[in-house]
Amino acid sequence: MVSANAPGELRLIPEQKTNLLDLDRKGMESFVQTLGGKAYHGRNLFKWIHKHGLTDFDAMTDLSKKLRAGLQEKASFGIPEVVYEQPSRDGTHKWVLELSCNNRVESVFIPDGDRGTLCVSSQVGCSLDCSFCSTGKQGYNRNLSAGEIIAQLWVAVHRMDKRVTNVVFMGMGEPLANFDPVVTAMNSMQDDLAYMLSKYRVTLSTSGIVPALKRLREFTDVSLAVSLHAPSNELRDQLVPINRKYPLEELIPACRDFIRGDKRRKITWEYVMLDGVNDTDAHAKSLIRLLEGTPSKLNLIPFNPFPGTEYRSSSPERIEAFRQRMMKAGIMAMTRKTRGDDIDAACGQLVGRVKDRSRRLLRQSINVATVPESLL
Ligand code: SAH
Ligand code: SF4
Repeated sequence: MVSANAPGELRLIPEQKTNLLDLDRKGMESFVQTLGGKAYHGRNLFKWIHKHGLTDFDAMTDLSKKLRAGLQEKASFGIPEVVYEQPSRDGTHKWVLELSCNNRVESVFIPDGDRGTLCVSSQVGCSLDCSFCSTGKQGYNRNLSAGEIIAQLWVAVHRMDKRVTNVVFMGMGEPLANFDPVVTAMNSMQDDLAYMLSKYRVTLSTSGIVPALKRLREFTDVSLAVSLHAPSNELRDQLVPINRKYPLEELIPACRDFIRGDKRRKITWEYVMLDGVNDTDAHAKSLIRLLEGTPSKLNLIPFNPFPGTEYRSSSPERIEAFRQRMMKAGIMAMTRKTRGDDIDAACGQLVGRVKDRSRRLLRQSINVATVPESLL
């Protein structure tokens, strides 16, 4: 049966404890009311969990004893264990969280001046099969729940003591293919009683599921990054197969609509630089034409190779020439500088190293994000 619930709304399953991390503020208010509390108790509980990082009901002194007993009986915290962690020389830090059924998910924290960016995953694997992406090559396993997504931020802030100023959905998975949990988690990220991140500091990266993109503004307001990677349908059909369903003539207007009405906003276009594939002067020229009239930032991402891939990254000189060409046409373009090199905090390289170092197989490998410079 299709659920009529909105993202973040309470879904009670008889005989099963409710994972409080799955609930946004409204969901928490409703849940507490089912236990005889008032809506404001739900807000207090939400704040204890997300702002203060508490998981001990007895320490939540402004909740009545009766309500705390009800919570003990009916609620749980789905906080994953950190099973592996690795800091890098440049301050980048990654860790692996153990989810249910032996699934694992990785988060990466990237400090840069007074910013701290956390890159989160939305799915274990991905079904969209982009030809240059190691997550895509591994296939799809499952969606993460809202609790599993927000837990990545909870752990960063409350267990790893990171000051997270920005969150980007550039880890594993396609966030718009896991709509409700992603929206719920993004709303909690922005909530004043929780992490207080502004809409400019939570960025969803998508390969372009147009109908979901059109619905997104109804439920949440965030910044948008789009994995473009090609200036024509012909080439994008090969690199990003979802383009065959939602071609550029549908994607570009949907992106423009998304930022309409907010003059501060630009679309961040991600463009992985593939040697001889999408990096020539002719490609640059068509890209300039394609982006004309759309407030844009272009992030050129050197390709991160992985075993078995047919692609090579464009040379630094080629990437710089491409960037200069875009800048001359008035398109703000930057090249991602490599971060966390010594810990492989780059796409498609995590699994092998984790296996080497921890000697434990990661059942589901996580494709670490390629986080564009301008989002840091
Ligand atoms: N599914 C979403 C978000 C996760 S991927 C999306 O596709 O946007 C995050 C970014 O990493 C995307 O821009 C993706 O195209 C890029 N990426 C994937 N594999 C890569 C690789 N091997 N080298 C460089 N960037 C890669
Ligand atoms: Fe999925 Fe994004 Fe990788 Fe494409 S680039 S396969 S959408 S994770």
